[in-house]
Amino acid sequence: MNKKLVFRRARQVCQIFFLALFLFLFRQTDYTGLDTIPYAVNLFFRWDPLAAAAVTLATRTVIPLLLPALAVIGLTLVFGRVFCGWICPLGTLLDGTARVIRPVSRPLRPLRHIKYVILTVVLVSAAFGLQLAGWVDPFSLLVRGMVIAVDPLFNALVTAGFDAVYFHGPGWATAVSEPVYDAFKSFILPYKQSLFIWPAVSLVMLAGVFALELLGRRFWCRNLCPLGAMLALVSRFSFFRRKPLLACKNCEACHHECRMSAFDDDRRMMAEECNLCLDCLEFCPKQITTFRFTPPVNRAPVDVTRRHLIGAGLTGITLPFLVKIDAVAKDPSRRVLRPPGALAEEDFLKTCVRCGECLKVCIQNALQPVLLEQGLDGVFTPRLVPRLGYCEFNCTLCGQVCPTGALKRLTPAEKHAFVIGRAVFDRNRCLPFASSTPCIVCEEHCPTSEKAIRFDEVVVTGAGGAALTLKRPYVITDLCVGCGICEKVCPLPGPSAVRVYPAGEISSDLYPV
Ligand code: SF4
Ligand code: SF4
Repeated sequence: MNKKLVFRRARQVCQIFFLALFLFLFRQTDYTGLDTIPYAVNLFFRWDPLAAAAVTLATRTVIPLLLPALAVIGLTLVFGRVFCGWICPLGTLLDGTARVIRPVSRPLRPLRHIKYVILTVVLVSAAFGLQLAGWVDPFSLLVRGMVIAVDPLFNALVTAGFDAVYFHGPGWATAVSEPVYDAFKSFILPYKQSLFIWPAVSLVMLAGVFALELLGRRFWCRNLCPLGAMLALVSRFSFFRRKPLLACKNCEACHHECRMSAFDDDRRMMAEECNLCLDCLEFCPKQITTFRFTPPVNRAPVDVTRRHLIGAGLTGITLPFLVKIDAVAKDPSRRVLRPPGALAEEDFLKTCVRCGECLKVCIQNALQPVLLEQGLDGVFTPRLVPRLGYCEFNCTLCGQVCPTGALKRLTPAEKHAFVIGRAVFDRNRCLPFASSTPCIVCEEHCPTSEKAIRFDEVVVTGAGGAALTLKRPYVITDLCVGCGICEKVCPLPGPSAVRVYPAGEISSDLYPV
């Protein structure tokens, strides 16, 4: 095989390997019958330098979980943006997309500066306490979109297809389809059909990244990705580079063929834009391109102006203050229930990178993305919605998959004691109070070792005038952990007669037990 083709094949094999690893870990981010997830399913976030920098700046703390990101910085210092060309699963998926859809427009003016602007806004905002990385980090966009929309959609479609064959197909078709369906359930489909609030939002955001391929190859990577921008800046100091550093006169091959548009208008190579795809080894008509270790000399400046950076810096300073003066974010009645192990709310908002891993792994599908309930600051963070699903008393999976420690990894004993919120009865709706109807469903399901729901026995006059003994529930606040199972199982239509409120917000004066 042609030696240059060997390099391209090596890159493709590497891309496929990391994409397969990413998909494998994504599939393993699920309940498999075990209490512990045996793989580092959050690996891609943990070596993400953008997530690490944004969380470190926002929390002023070095998070040990995120230290693997230094390895990617080290790799970039030697080989340049090889992460983008050889490893990043989103980059690989975009390369795959480019094989299917061709750009519909002529190449736009270079917009490379936008990614530096986005990076600056994210990092400056983080330094002032606002965590925006989850909006634009490539892994957050990809994983959250897959968790909330793509995976549930895929499961629903595949299951509907097999169901259609099973219920309406001929016998021979079912004989073939059922073993295939079993194999799908074992290896490809998720543990359960998940439902999420407003999946279209995450789907549109992710689809938008792919749709940008219509404007040019790797449009997202070249122009928008803040992680790409960060690695680009580091790769200005890298040693492994393409030669020559100038595109040849009278030859437009580099300009037309380079998927990263790594040449400026003066034909100077911008090493920070090159993702080492090695395509130019092949398309160069003179066959003079080569890659080798060389001192890091940069002929072209970074494609961003001081004006852009000042504007981005000012935006990065303004946004956190805009959030600070947002009454929605401060309204206690809008506070949501956080998953077990969550840091104190302010730290949680700074540490969570909105990856969606915890949403994916939640056995009861109880964790849902926050949209605008808590203002800009809380968008895409996880919340427990007990009426949809409760927090399984013995489950600690969300803390195991959280890549940043926004959710602490809890032992079973710590989990049993962790207070998510407290349950409060609405006596205007609760059946034994409101309509003298016997009901003890909530108490039966309460999982705490000493029941947090108890009863007062009262004798009331029933419908026919007969005496009726009723058990009226109340909560022992100190025993309640706010798992939400009582809220989930309450048989009333609509809102439950017992609701869980965030811990620390119940005044015993307001809610007498
Ligand atoms: S630019 Fe961003 S999305 Fe593209 S390959 Fe690099 S890290 Fe991945
Ligand atoms: S709390 Fe959930 S969404 Fe936030 S970083 Fe941890 S796993 Fe990701």
